[in-house]
Formats: sequence, C-alpha cells, structure tokens
Amino acid sequence: MINETTIEEFKATLRGQLIQPNDEGYDDARKVYNGMIDRRPRLIARCSDVADVIAAVNFGRSNDMLVAIRGGGHNGAGLGICDDGLVIDLSLIKYTRVDPEARTVRVGGGCTWGDVDHATHAFGFATPSGIISTTGVGGLTLGGGLGHLTRKCGLSIDNLLAADMVLADGRFVTASAEENDDLFWAIRGGGGNFGVVTAFLFRLHPISTIIGGPTLWPLEQATEVMQWYRDFIPTAPEDLNGFFAFLTVPPGPPFPEQLHLKKMCVVVWCYTGSEADADDVFQPIKEFGPPALYGIHSMPFPALQSAFDPIYPPGLQWYWKADFVNELSDEAIALHVKHASEMPTMHSTTHLYPIDGAAHRVGNNDTAWSYRDTKWSQVIVGVDPDPANNEQITAWTKEYWEALHPYSAGGAYVNFMMDEGENRVKATYRDNYERLVAIKHKYDPTNLFRVNQNIKPSV
Ligand SMILES: Cc1cc2nc3c(=O)[nH]c(=O)nc-3n(C[C@H](O)[C@H](O)[C@H](O)COP(=O)(O)OP(=O)(O)OC[C@H]3O[C@@H](n4cnc5c(N)ncnc54)[C@H](O)[C@@H]3O)c2cc1C
Repeated sequence: MINETTIEEFKATLRGQLIQPNDEGYDDARKVYNGMIDRRPRLIARCSDVADVIAAVNFGRSNDMLVAIRGGGHNGAGLGICDDGLVIDLSLIKYTRVDPEARTVRVGGGCTWGDVDHATHAFGFATPSGIISTTGVGGLTLGGGLGHLTRKCGLSIDNLLAADMVLADGRFVTASAEENDDLFWAIRGGGGNFGVVTAFLFRLHPISTIIGGPTLWPLEQATEVMQWYRDFIPTAPEDLNGFFAFLTVPPGPPFPEQLHLKKMCVVVWCYTGSEADADDVFQPIKEFGPPALYGIHSMPFPALQSAFDPIYPPGLQWYWKADFVNELSDEAIALHVKHASEMPTMHSTTHLYPIDGAAHRVGNNDTAWSYRDTKWSQVIVGVDPDPANNEQITAWTKEYWEALHPYSAGGAYVNFMMDEGENRVKATYRDNYERLVAIKHKYDPTNLFRVNQNIKPSV
C-alpha cells in the first residue's frame, strides 16, 4: 500500500493530472473503448509532457506498481488499463507537426489517427494507419498497423522513422535506424513492451483524394465473392487496396432501405492511383458480378478513414479472435460462409486484410513483425451494445475461430488478440521471439511494462 504523502508528492511533480478512485472523473478516466473491460486502477497519471512520463515511470517502478500505458485506449483486450496499478495515460500528449519539405509528421504519443489524418491532409499527405479514426497511434503502430494503405505503402511500422521513448529506468532515448537500432527493431511490431513512446516520426506519402468505398453483395453469393476476391487481390495494382468483410447492413443512410439489416459480404476499396486509370482498375469488380451496392466514389482520404466511426462508437462490448492466413482454401471459405451467416448481432463482423505489396517487401526478420510472408490477417469480431449479449457474441467468435484456426498460419496479429497467453505470443513472433526476449532483457529487465502482449525478459 502506497502512503498518501508519497502520492501527494508525486502529484505535485506533475503538470498533468493524477486521478484517484474518489476523484470526480475517475469513472470516465478508467473507461476504455471496449465496454466489456471494467478495471479499477489505483492511480491514473494523465501526463502532459515527457517530464510527467519520466516522473510516472519512476514512481511506478520505485513503488513496485503494476504499470499500464494508455495511448488511444482502443485495445480489444483492454491493455491500456489495469486493476490496482498505475496507468500512464498519454491522452494529453496530443500534437502533430508536419514537415512538408522532409515529408514527415511528428506525432505526440497520445494522438489518435484522426488527429494525424487531419494534420497531414491539410498538406496533401497521408501515412498508413488503420480503418477507424478514433484508434490510438501508439498501440496500433507498435503492434504493426494494417489498413487502407498496406499494399501501397506498407504497415505503419514500415513508415516509422523514429520514436522518442521513456525506458523502464526513466531514461529518455530516441530509437531509430541510427540510434538504439535494436530497440527500433523491437518496437516495430513488439508492442508496448520496451518503454513509453512519447513521440513518433512517420514518413508521409502524397495521398490526398482517393477513390474508394464499399461494394456489397448478398450473402447467398458469398462463396463466389470470396473466391473471386482471393484470386483478384494479389493480381491487382498496388494502388488498389480492398479488405473483405461480412457484416449486417446498418439501418440508415447511406445504405438503401432494401438492404437494411441484411447480412451481406463487402469489400471496402481504397484506390490511390491516377484518376485516369481508375475506370480500368475498377472494371474487373463491375465485371465479376454487379454488386447490390456500388458505393465507390472520390473522397478525401480522411473521409474513408472515419467512415466506420459512427457504426462503432466507444463503449460497445467487443470480443475478437484472429489468425494470419497463408491460403484461403475453398474449404476455409465454406466455413467462413457458414459461420458468418450465423452472425449474432448487427455489429458483429469478420474482416480479412490483405498483406502483400509493400508490406511483403520487408523481410520476416527485418522488424519484429514476423509474418511478412503471410497473405491475410483475419479477425472475427463479436460486438454488441448490450452486455446481456456478451455470452452469445463470445461463443460465436470462439466457435467460428476454432473452425477456421486449423486453416491458419499459426500466429495472429497482436493488435487483434485478446489476452491469450504466452504460447500465442510466441506463435506470433516465431523466430523473432528470442531476439525480442534479449532486447526486453536489456531495456526492461524487471518486466515493468507487462500489461501488453507480453514478452518476458530472459531472467
Ligand atoms: C474499432 C477498432 C478498429 C481497429 N482497426 C484496426 C486497423 O484497421 N488496423 C490495425 O492495425 N489495428 C486496428 N485495431 C486494433 C488496434 O491497433 C489495437 O487495438 C491497438 O492496441 C490500439 O491502440 P491504442 O493506442 O488505441 O490502445 P491502448 O488500449 O491505449 O493500448 C494498447 C497497447 O499498446 C500499448 N501502447 C499504446 N500507446 C503506447 C505508447 N505511446 N507507448 C508505449 N506503449 C503504448 C499499451 O501498453 C497497450 O499494451 C482496431 C481496434 C479497434 C477497437
């Protein structure tokens, strides 16, 4: 038990806030994106700058506290928060600085992707992220970063140039190809295991207006759509990304009334190439079979990035399970169609993200993210606003995952995992695991940062 004087002294060192269980705002401060997660930390240090982060890390370590790092709070397993311990909340460290000459953006550790897209779009640039703008830059990047620009520009980590970090011993360092290159290797996929990232520096790409949106087909056509999608994506130009999903059409605009609440399959496209070539690029999609909804049009990149935000507001109940997939066989497709037609709630969904193009041109051992040679990242997601349905969405997800897991490559994308134990983490890092253990031992020998997909130090 930490005494009150020690806590008051810590509070006095912070420019940000220290939130305790009896404080007004405590319940809001401990909420994370997944409404299923209900944890009660002893202290939440809402840091306003690097000095606050150093103070918080030193306080957590000296007082032997369990320490969680909170970026955007989106983690499905709730790894941005903990029971009883100290949460280092970075949400006040929100700044962006675009350098249009160098084509880079520097991003505070507490930014969301919406913050980044807003800043970079004003200059006609973008950098790869995820598909929902409220997701934190911190967790998404450190786990890898899959999204609409994966085929064209690679994962988020492939565009990370440097990170400012506070280490477990309180030291402030930069990790890049030039400085602490072992640490730089590890944070590109190794999650929040190695320290608190207070700033990220990303490479920018001249991407501003894109042509994209969804094409929807009835579930009765799902087998043919999936087979066609599987064969089409690897042959498509890298300017075109498309992730596949099963979903239930939300009952409102922009969807036509006749599709409302229908279970369907969809590909969400993002084309970043020249407008002159767009008709040719989209022609095979029209030729394959006219979709029930052809929602492709020109839009600012941030509009696509935030298109799903209203469907998935914070506070819904989430349970998800994932796998990497090398081959999407006809048998696996048949199982997908079977389980997807049993989706239990309107928000439940399955996504398949292509991993190829620029993401494939990085070697399995070049960064900690070891599944460069796989083809798809699959995630099955049970979601509903009502906690009374938790059992149902969890059971559907588990059954679906168990049926498909034998067709998978073994590991899963860490950012799509629940708390699934050490073997699952090892299966994900494969032959990068031992090197990660050694780097963890060097930078965090006591495993201070263990509220994550944990890599234990060697001693
Ligand atoms: C609705 C939704 C959509 C998603 N879409 C995508 C997608 O399209 N592509 C994709 O790749 N992923 C996606 N994800 C998964 C997402 O990448 C992970 O949930 C990720 O962990 C979220 O990061 P966060 O900072 O918001 O999370 P938090 O819950 O704040 O943190 C998650 C983990 O990251 C660590 N962490 C966070 N910030 C830092 C930091 N600055 N320094 C050190 N450690 C840190 C924490 O310790 C914790 O272990 C999605 C998640 C949701 C819920």
